[in-house]
Amino acid sequence: MNKQLSINTGVCSKYQRLLEESQSALEIWKEQRSENCQSRLVGKEAVDKLLRLQANFARAYAVLQRHARNCLRCQLVSRIEGCDSESNSDALSERLRGVLLVMGEH
Ligand SMILES: [Zn+2]
Repeated sequence: MNKQLSINTGVCSKYQRLLEESQSALEIWKEQRSENCQSRLVGKEAVDKLLRLQANFARAYAVLQRHARNCLRCQLVSRIEGCDSESNSDALSERLRGVLLVMGEH
């Protein structure tokens, strides 16, 4: 029982790292996108760069989701936290999902 408790304490550090990676990929992508929006002439290079950044973020996000599905620790944490209120990481996941939808429209 003590062993189980020690597994449950704290968020999975790998999940945290992956979350940060996808978040920063998202920030870079958003920055580039607003840069493209501000300049009237957007060359092929800028569009390619934006697509590459978008792919970067999508990949980071996919890795994050795959990890959360396969990681025992993440599953334990989400099972405990998921019952009552939304955890911070859940809120971020929701935000990332929203961005993915926006990407689809773009
Ligand atoms: Zn994990």
